[in-house]
Amino acid sequence: MKSAETSPSARVVEKPQLEEYDLVILGGGTGSTVAAWTFAAEGKRVAVVDRKYIGGSCPNIACLPSKNIIHSAKIASYFRRSREFGITLDGFSIDMSGVRERKRKMVTGLNEMYLENYRKTGAEFILATGRFVAPRTLEVTLADGTTRRLRGENVIVSTGTRAALDAIPGLAEAQPLTHIDALELDEVPEHLLIIGGGYVGVEFAQAMRRFGSKVTVIDRNHRLMSREDEDVCEALRDLFEDENIEIVLNTRIKRVSGKSGESVTIVVDQNGTEKTLAGTHLLVATGRTPNTEGLGLELAGVELTDRGYIKVNERLQTTAPGVWTIGEVGGSPQFTHVSVDDFRVVQANLNGGNRVTTARQVPYCLFTDPELAHIGLSETQAKAQKIPYRLFKVPMEANLRARALSETRGFMKALVEAESDRIIGFTGFGAGAGEFMAAVQIAMIAGLPYSAMRDAVLTHPTLAEGLIALFSSAASAHGVVETRGPQISAA
Ligand SMILES: Cc1cc2nc3c(=O)[nH]c(=O)nc-3n(C[C@H](O)[C@H](O)[C@H](O)COP(=O)(O)OP(=O)(O)OC[C@H]3O[C@@H](n4cnc5c(N)ncnc54)[C@H](O)[C@@H]3O)c2cc1C
Repeated sequence: MKSAETSPSARVVEKPQLEEYDLVILGGGTGSTVAAWTFAAEGKRVAVVDRKYIGGSCPNIACLPSKNIIHSAKIASYFRRSREFGITLDGFSIDMSGVRERKRKMVTGLNEMYLENYRKTGAEFILATGRFVAPRTLEVTLADGTTRRLRGENVIVSTGTRAALDAIPGLAEAQPLTHIDALELDEVPEHLLIIGGGYVGVEFAQAMRRFGSKVTVIDRNHRLMSREDEDVCEALRDLFEDENIEIVLNTRIKRVSGKSGESVTIVVDQNGTEKTLAGTHLLVATGRTPNTEGLGLELAGVELTDRGYIKVNERLQTTAPGVWTIGEVGGSPQFTHVSVDDFRVVQANLNGGNRVTTARQVPYCLFTDPELAHIGLSETQAKAQKIPYRLFKVPMEANLRARALSETRGFMKALVEAESDRIIGFTGFGAGAGEFMAAVQIAMIAGLPYSAMRDAVLTHPTLAEGLIALFSSAASAHGVVETRGPQISAA
């Protein structure tokens, strides 16, 4: 007779012992990582479970690596423009493995910094895949196959999203690149086809073109970044045309054949006409899918929305008591700074407060060169909502620092509420726009009249000083106006 120890059928699989925590976090994105450090530093017992990344997407495969590579591409563009700056070069070349190495070094440094913060605060980082097995209880599987059971008095789900892959015939078989692969390229694609003209597609398009790739951007809408105001889309289109990036709009992709990295062909229907596009590499950037499958959410009482995101109220509470979300998986706007604000919302509510996500101002920046930065209402939104506004708009040429830098492309514009003089929207398409927008945002938060910015003494010559030119210009509801007034700017 076989002993119970050697008979597989008789083997008793023991559940790992239940470990109790004040807070268990599934998915370690930026906001939830800050939550872990903050609560642990206050003396709470906190565990963060992530299957792959210390710090989630932002420092590893999204914001920071993409901005790192975009900056290398900017340097390449300066090399191309070197004569304009009076510098003669005897040719130059792009070494993509060197570009990648700089990015990898930055990521390693960020990972070390994150681990150091874990050590300092006492939060526990567990590299494992997790799923719910009961309310507020997770089973996590480590790389060596061992499992642990963690129960939190509170649990935060922060598993984020991943690149969506549309059900297009041949697309999956073509093994397209996602942003994760594109950030790891060690060669310049000869001809990169990009499906999707939103943030990710547009940022990569310009960067790869600047490294020397031929680039074609394919989008189903009638313009790139289609939700932006018309003048913004036009400026972006002009930029892409000037940099010889092909844009194919109003398309429906019928089928894809070939393999990314070798050769790819895409057949599209463009306004009823069939067109064939060919390239060597294919990048998909057509939106995001929430990471909610396989999480055992049904065992925890956590419900989903029709779109597959975790259902939350404005306090970021899920349908299960004691379970919260931070970041994209709960349907929050897809930016790192929003995930950090989600942390603040959850923190306040866990501490007995009542902070909500509604009515928060969400700025954003598209990191093309020049950048496109926006906060508050766009003209399109103001018109749709029938909000009367005065428009202030000046070309970047009005900014003398921009002239000194030879970076005069673009414009900035602000919407000022007709009645109150308060700034209700700002868009900058120009050098440094993402940086100087913060000044406008603070004025908006403080409810200052636009004249407070107009009359401020700002350092000369800075890009932010251009805000004086903007708010000194003659307001109009109809497009570009002359710059006037006593400010130091080009009239
Ligand atoms: C190419 C690109 C560029 C971007 N650039 C910017 C930018 O410039 N500025 C900006 O504000 N935003 C940018 N974003 C968006 C930004 O990265 C995200 O909004 C931000 O990272 C917040 O994500 P999150 O916290 O919701 O999830 P994430 O940071 O994605 O974290 C989710 C984590 O959950 C883990 N996980 C998932 N399932 C499990 C599981 N079952 N078990 C354990 N772990 C799991 C994943 O490994 C991941 O680490 C960019 C995105 C992309 C794709």
